[in-house]
Order: sequence, then structure tokens, then C-alpha cells
Amino acid sequence: MKRKLFLLYGGKSAEHQVSIRTAFAVMQALDFDKYEVTPVYITEEGQWVKREALENPVKQLNDLIVKPTKEEQNSLTLFNNSAIISNDEPPVIFPLLHGTNGEDGTVQGLLEVLNLPYVGNGVLASSAGMDKVIMKNIFAQAGLKQVDYVSALRHEWEQDKEKVYRRVEESLTYPCFVKPANLGSSVGINKCNDRTELEDAFVEAFQFDRKIIIEQGIEAREIEIGVLGNDEPQCSVVGEIVPKAEFYDYKAKYEDGNTALIIPADIPEETYETIKEMAIQAFKALDCSGLVRADFFVTKDGEVYINEVNTMPGFTPVSMFPLLWKHSGLEYSQLIDRLVELGLERYNEKQ
Ligand code: ATP
Ligand code: MG
Ligand code: MG
Ligand code: MG
Repeated sequence: MKRKLFLLYGGKSAEHQVSIRTAFAVMQALDFDKYEVTPVYITEEGQWVKREALENPVKQLNDLIVKPTKEEQNSLTLFNNSAIISNDEPPVIFPLLHGTNGEDGTVQGLLEVLNLPYVGNGVLASSAGMDKVIMKNIFAQAGLKQVDYVSALRHEWEQDKEKVYRRVEESLTYPCFVKPANLGSSVGINKCNDRTELEDAFVEAFQFDRKIIIEQGIEAREIEIGVLGNDEPQCSVVGEIVPKAEFYDYKAKYEDGNTALIIPADIPEETYETIKEMAIQAFKALDCSGLVRADFFVTKDGEVYINEVNTMPGFTPVSMFPLLWKHSGLEYSQLIDRLVELGLERYNEKQ
């Protein structure tokens, strides 16, 4: 019997277009003898639209971005569809979503409530991984080496800006990085070389979030690794990001196409071992499952710092995470199969 698979894509987030691209790619890689695929499109307004199950992915790709009809808009299809809720064998849900309402534990919570198996991280890991301050507090508690950081709330900043800036300058030196606590794709992130730039960066970051993080800037190579598994997570080879810009900002990620991804990264064996160990430690500290991409800084003298984990990393065939696995011997379609298995494994453990 074919395994029912629902792909959630689009989504109410800045990464809507990226998600559509990912859905196209996943659809083309899926084995239709093995899966009965139903795409569920989430519009930018947050409406859920269930499409017909696909038999022929290529022919029906265009259907994926057809605007919802009035009737479709009026029904929250996932809730209304009894085929999903009362089924002998429930479909596996694959949330191909990044950022808010997709990577942050909210969709995962909905799927838990509906008692459906799904791919990737659960509620806790997703939400803790989405908030850079919470994530770094957990990493600190786990003894993972990372750069110094300070956090600030919009509320306290509005009350006494000077006091917050002074707190930053007492703990960190320039350059530092200012980031909204809950975002990805480098949105709202700025590198600051002095007080004036710091002030501008605060204004921008607070447009995206009520909480921000300010980190010590570090001069280092950027090395990323993929982790795959549940209770016994495995690591991929490592990759290096070499952006042409000042840092790996939004433009470098999605517009320039100038950034080089070097896989495998040319680093000493010893550094690779350290990165693997730290990635697994981070995975366990956040209670992750399924997958993460862990991002590291490696300095000239070989010091390794963890920067972050991403609980739903970029997932097109040319994104870092699938490429890391490809170089580790797992093709894109095999990676998808593995993720579905891992999602089912976790689901069955809970039943
Ligand atoms: P994504 O989720 O897309 O990987 P993000 O929005 O979570 O990105 P970060 O990875 O934290 O953002 O930062 C984006 C980029 O900014 C990094 O890849 C790096 O180039 C630069 N950067 C961030 N923090 C620092 C730091 N403390 N020192 C030096 N460079 C930094
Ligand atoms: Mg991130
Ligand atoms: Mg991200
Ligand atoms: Mg990153």
C-alpha cells in the first residue's frame, strides 16, 4: 500500500517563496509508486488549501500555486477533512515551512493535537530553536562554546535607550551583531562597528521582534553540518560558506548567488571531530528529532564556536543541508524517505 504523504508549503512567513520552490523539488524527487502525495498550500494570508492528490507531479506542478477559490478560502480544509482525522493509517505530514508558523513549533503543536505523524522536530525543539536567546541559554547550560551575547526587550529599550546601549558596551566590544530573536534568513540582522550603527541596528531589529539579541562579532570561517536521526543522531560531512558580502546576509542567501558552498569543507580532522561532537550535544540539549543544520564559527587558531541550529533548514536540492547529505552518500530522495521514516518512528514510540 502507498504511504500517504501531505506536503505543507508556502506559509505565512518571509520565506514563502523559498518554501514553494522546496515543494516543487520535493515533489519531483518523490517516488509516486511509494507515496500518495497531497499538497497543502498555505497562502501568505495563512489560509490552508488542500489540493488533489498528485499522480503525476510534473503535469500538476502548476496547480501548486493556483490561487484558492472562494469556496476553498472558506474552509479550513485540514480541520474539515475527515479523511485526515479518521483514517486507519494516518498520512505523514511534511512541513516544508521556514520561520514563523512553520519552523517555530506552532504547526508542530497543531499536528500533535490532531495526533498526526510529521517530519522533523517537535514542539519544544522547534520553538526553542527559533528563539536565539532561549537557544543560546540552553547551549550555555550544556557547556557549549559560543560567543558572548546580551538580550534586550523593546519595552526596556523604549524606556531608557542609553541604559541598554551601555549594557551592551559593558559586555561586548565592536563589531557586534544585532539580530531579532525569532527569525531566520538573516532578516533584520546588522553588523555594528560603532554606537551610531548600534542605534540604527536596534531600530531595525525591533521592527521584527519585541526581543533582540546582541552578539560579540567574531572573525571566523563559517562551517555547517547536518544532523539526522532521533535518539541516535548521525552527522554529515561539513560544508563551508564563503559569502562575498561583509557577512552572510539575506541578499547573499537569496539574491546574489555569489556565495560559495564548499563541500566537504577543508578543515583539520580534529576540528571536524569537535564540530560533530558539539552538533550532537546541541541536538540533544534542545531535544531535537529528525533533522537540524548546525552552524559554527571556526577561528584562525582552530577555536570552534556554535552559532545556531536551524530546525527546518533550507531544503531545496541546492541548499546546504541536502548537499551535505548527498556528499555523505544520501541522495535527495533517499533523504526524504529517511525523514519520513524518522517521523513515523517518533510517532509510533508515543502511541
Ligand atoms: P539562517 O537561519 O538563515 O542560517 P539566521 O537569520 O538565523 O540565519 P545567523 O546565522 O545567526 O542568522 O547569522 C547570519 C549570518 O551573520 C551568519 O551566517 C554570519 O555570516 C553572520 N554572523 C552572525 N552572527 C555573527 C557573529 N557573532 N560574528 C560574526 N558573524 C556573525
Ligand atoms: Mg537561523
Ligand atoms: Mg533559518
Ligand atoms: Mg545561520
